[in-house]
Amino acid sequence: MRFDVTILGSSSATPIFNRNPSAQVLNINERLFLIDCGEGTQQQLLKNGIKAQRINHIFISHLHGDHYLGLVGLLSSLHLYGRIRAMEIFGPPELKEILDIQFKYSQTNLRYPIEFYATQTERSALIYENPDIRVESFPLEHRIPCTGFRFSEKNRLPKIIREKVEELNIPVDVIPLIKKGADYTDETGVVYKASDLTLAADAPKSYAYCSDTVCNWKYIDQIRGVDTLYHEATFMNDMADRAAETFHTTALQAAEVARFAGVKQLLLGHFSARYRELEPLQDEARTVFANSRLALEGQTFVI
Ligand SMILES: [Zn+2]
Ligand SMILES: [Zn+2]
Repeated sequence: MRFDVTILGSSSATPIFNRNPSAQVLNINERLFLIDCGEGTQQQLLKNGIKAQRINHIFISHLHGDHYLGLVGLLSSLHLYGRIRAMEIFGPPELKEILDIQFKYSQTNLRYPIEFYATQTERSALIYENPDIRVESFPLEHRIPCTGFRFSEKNRLPKIIREKVEELNIPVDVIPLIKKGADYTDETGVVYKASDLTLAADAPKSYAYCSDTVCNWKYIDQIRGVDTLYHEATFMNDMADRAAETFHTTALQAAEVARFAGVKQLLLGHFSARYRELEPLQDEARTVFANSRLALEGQTFVI
């Protein structure tokens, strides 16, 4: 099952040095989930060969412009492309009002419905579920209400043994049933047990997105043990005071969080415009957590 994240933007506040503000696309089993939608997201989708029409779920962490100012443009383009399928949007309650007013005064009647789900920032909540995954939001501490998101796969299905499929000529449409535990009976009436045709499933994967936040350690339980954690790392640690003042995190603090939460991989992002070179942030994080990487635009990370 595919589970990866492509970074479309990881700059804080303003676009600079060819870096775009926050946006990323999760591909989970060929379903696309857009997380934050900074200005420039449409161009970044085009540049990375990701079809916007395939996105059916959008998650917005908070209402600072660098996390959502690309949203109205994206939704408008989808209207122009002739989309009719509903778009599910999860975000702060006020976002609904912003969208409504934008479309009201441009006299745009979207051809497709928006199903809006308000996030709440006081406690964690299960906000979305499908047969493959569950998504929880959890409170972060920023200058305005802000949430992180955790995407967790449910149990994966066992893997079919390819050699058996070929050997027994098992029809393709039967394979999903075998994975779910059904035995297979061939044309001559011989029964093969599902357990003899499959291998144990891989462990389910999980991904957490920690948008803008001061490093307050209160969200550790929500991100514990994830395979990949994206955490903002706006500043180097010599600017820890500035980070605290502006409700942001340093690269070193993000790494400490990753280590303490027992995650496997850390992606650093939301880089301040003061840093032209980003390697020093990665170096700093790696002093605490070795598997720290820069969430650079255009890169896809397997979770
Ligand atoms: Zn931001
Ligand atoms: Zn912010």
